Amino acid sequence: MSSPKQVIVIGAGIIGASIAWHLTKAGARVTVVSTSGAGGVATPNSFAWINASWGNPETYFHLRVRAMAEWTRLAKDLPGLPLAWCGGLCWDLPADRLEAYAAEHSSWGYGIERVGREQAARIEPNLAELPDSALYVAEEGVAEPVATARTLLTDADRRGARIIAGTVGALALSGSKVTGVVISGETITADGVVIAAGTGAPAIAGTAGIKLPIEAPPGLIVHSRPYKKLLNGLVLAERLHMRQTAEGRIIAGSDFGGGDPGENPEATARELFATMKAMLRGVDGLEFDFHTVGYRPTPIDGFPIVSRAEGVGGLYLAVTHSGITLAPAIGLFAAREILDGERDALLAPYALSRFAQ
Ligand SMILES: Cc1cc2nc3c(=O)[nH]c(=O)nc-3n(C[C@H](O)[C@H](O)[C@H](O)COP(=O)(O)OP(=O)(O)OC[C@H]3O[C@@H](n4cnc5c(N)ncnc54)[C@H](O)[C@@H]3O)c2cc1C
Repeated sequence: MSSPKQVIVIGAGIIGASIAWHLTKAGARVTVVSTSGAGGVATPNSFAWINASWGNPETYFHLRVRAMAEWTRLAKDLPGLPLAWCGGLCWDLPADRLEAYAAEHSSWGYGIERVGREQAARIEPNLAELPDSALYVAEEGVAEPVATARTLLTDADRRGARIIAGTVGALALSGSKVTGVVISGETITADGVVIAAGTGAPAIAGTAGIKLPIEAPPGLIVHSRPYKKLLNGLVLAERLHMRQTAEGRIIAGSDFGGGDPGENPEATARELFATMKAMLRGVDGLEFDFHTVGYRPTPIDGFPIVSRAEGVGGLYLAVTHSGITLAPAIGLFAAREILDGERDALLAPYALSRFAQ
């Protein structure tokens, strides 16, 4: 019998945590190395909406829907996972575009229900402003991002993974093969390395001559102090997107990806908070707590990069926006490809090699 494959995963955000967990569960000997510690960098600043909503082509829609199903599978394996299928009430498009989205995505099999004012009020009774018509998707949800990443890493650790702190300065190479990572001048060796380092990925990949075309747009999210329950699910309104977290905070961005922080992020956050408050009833005691500005690791065409790195044996790349939605599918598919060489058909459009064309 061959010995288990040793894999280093760089990154402890939602993507690295999911890949590490799936690799460990499949029998690999995994070391997770990160600068941040468990939870990541973009991950704690996320709105964390799990969805296959408007604005994406059908191929990507199917990957997202599969990822949503994989969340349910993962929650069975990890009963404490902070995942909630709370539903999303959406009217963030003009009426004609909202209807076009409903028609298109319904024909693809997305569970969209058209709702009027009264039904919207039943779904979210504390909205001060109600839409005349909206769409409701009961199968959308949320995974509290940091707690989820930590749950995955804690369970990976329990299954034998090693989780260490450190900053990878370079990949270790032997000819055209990766042999490990270099941290503070010391090399840790492995059979394979996964770069799941978010916006830190291009610098690491660059040490093996690989160019990762990634942007890092900022996104501001405002957080209230924990408050009594006001929202049942996700509210994707014209002026902002909001939800209530597991600890009771109401969080909002001018959209789910976070708003433009502007020149004065604190002022932008206070203004957004006031808008959010005006949209809700029963908010007399609702107080601003803090805002975050996160940087979304976003490949320049807006789609994931999840593939082997051609030309560098043993190196795997996983960098994406919508990482909360996609994490369980990326973890599963990456582990299979790394350990068994099987590439899931849903990943076909998302190899790094597309940028070489
Ligand atoms: C404001 C905002 C809102 C968002 N909203 C949503 C949403 O509603 N739904 C959704 O699905 N997605 C959303 N996203 C996107 C999602 O949060 C990200 O795609 C996801 O968090 C990326 O996770 P990651 O693990 O790749 O990166 P990160 O969480 O950034 O983790 C990167 C890890 O790599 C480590 N690292 C980097 N460089 C090195 C190095 N040299 N050595 C060692 N370690 C290193 C870091 O320390 C960290 O542990 C949002 C993002 C933002 C910012």
